[in-house]
Amino acid sequence: MKALVKSKPEVGLWMENVPVPEVGPNDVLIRVKKSAICGTDVHIWNWDQWAQKTIPVPMVVGHEFSGEIAEIGSAVTRYHVGERVSGEGHIVCGKCRNCRAGRGHLCRNTLGVGVNRPGSFGEFVCIPESNVVPIPDDISDEIAAIFDPFGNAVHTALSFDLVGEDVLVTGAGPIGIMGALVAKRSGARKVVITDINPHRLDLARKLGINHVVDASKENLADVMKAIGMTEGFDVGLEMSGAAPAFRDMIDKMNNGGKIAILGIAPAGFEIDWNKVIFKMLNLKGIYGREMFETWYKMIAFVQGGLDLSPIITHRIKIDDFRDGFEAMRSGNSGKVVMDWM
Ligand code: NAD
Ligand code: ZN
Repeated sequence: MKALVKSKPEVGLWMENVPVPEVGPNDVLIRVKKSAICGTDVHIWNWDQWAQKTIPVPMVVGHEFSGEIAEIGSAVTRYHVGERVSGEGHIVCGKCRNCRAGRGHLCRNTLGVGVNRPGSFGEFVCIPESNVVPIPDDISDEIAAIFDPFGNAVHTALSFDLVGEDVLVTGAGPIGIMGALVAKRSGARKVVITDINPHRLDLARKLGINHVVDASKENLADVMKAIGMTEGFDVGLEMSGAAPAFRDMIDKMNNGGKIAILGIAPAGFEIDWNKVIFKMLNLKGIYGREMFETWYKMIAFVQGGLDLSPIITHRIKIDDFRDGFEAMRSGNSGKVVMDWM
């Protein structure tokens, strides 16, 4: 089959012919229709330090996808050939304490599709039956293909009660914007989103987020005053991985505020821990999606009318993958979805 492979330990990805993955008894083989590019894939393309120490070469990368079941393993009972599906990209062990307690997202032995095992930038991807998520008929292939990052947004946003709360989202990348939309729909009072990239700020406005702040030009304290906030934010969703954004968030939280942190900082950085202590803040790290509670909620949001399609700014044929990666690397894009059919 055709696949985008990290076949050399250097910058880039290459379209190559590789064997179709072998289908074990409990596996499901999916013919990929759409696959979206994640920031992780850009790290792999760039072959940065994280990628060099994480990705074995050669590796078919990619983990955001939707498609149709092409083949099922001999022990698979829940799904059938032809079903429209997406899939959870974190493969968990099923044996550790958290897995046994039904908290798969906390598995300490998690393996990533397209990171530790072959991924979705191929004509076929193979995952365990337990990772398959059927897609209802009224949800399109391209929306299903961005359920992985949408799930990051939903998992982060719903970490804390949002009803009547003032919410700060730092980082208006695709996940930050989706997180802000989810917060608004979930009953938040004010939702403020920050970024420093004009393209991203425009995208956030286009998606209907009211309070969009350019953190490179505006002072968040002034914005808070202007929109009638007299105290601080109740809930923070950190979606930038940028130290200045996180520090500003800690600064602008109300006492007792709660922060869910999804953004991954490229290098370690310091924060003022005394602010965390004296403000009695509650910090929670977020990785992936809850299995499978987040997926139920995502489907409910989309079926309930949440329109994510404007987040997809580039729709390209797989053979034009270089253009897709270029758009992602420029920062002037939302989600880039590649069409395999
Ligand atoms: P992204 O890189 O597209 O978005 C990050 C945004 O933060 C960018 O638009 C950038 O301009 C903005 N930013 C940079 N400095 C800023 C500042 N000082 N103030 C405000 N905004 C600033 O990433 P994404 O795909 O939307 O993902 C969001 C974050 O979540 C990334 O850090 C990503 O690595 C991380 N992530 C984590 C998980 C997880 O499971 N924990 C999963 C997926 C992504
Ligand atoms: Zn486990």
